[in-house]
Amino acid sequence: MEIKKQLKLTAFILIMIASVISSCAKEEQEVIDEPTYSSNYYVNKNAQSDGTHKIHTSGCSHAPDAANRIHLGNFDSCHKAITEARNHYDKVSGCYYCSRDCY
Ligand SMILES: [Zn+2]
Repeated sequence: MEIKKQLKLTAFILIMIASVISSCAKEEQEVIDEPTYSSNYYVNKNAQSDGTHKIHTSGCSHAPDAANRIHLGNFDSCHKAITEARNHYDKVSGCYYCSRDCY
């Protein structure tokens, strides 16, 4: 009888531990899923009159059509997007409207 009780108690403790661990894991997952405020960046295939290729975020109303842009990737700042864009073009700068930090 006493052993049965102990087993029950042990099982109860194990379930508690398991639920605590799973809730911790869930919290961690939620943190990962939080928005990181990064944007998809594109570089315009067509240069401006001064030879500069502008980079834009996907949501920018001044972004070029899909056919006239190269997807650079997801970055949390335009500076990283500029670095990536330099792999495609020598002269790149940020759009005045969506990437003013790099304008
Ligand atoms: Zn833009």
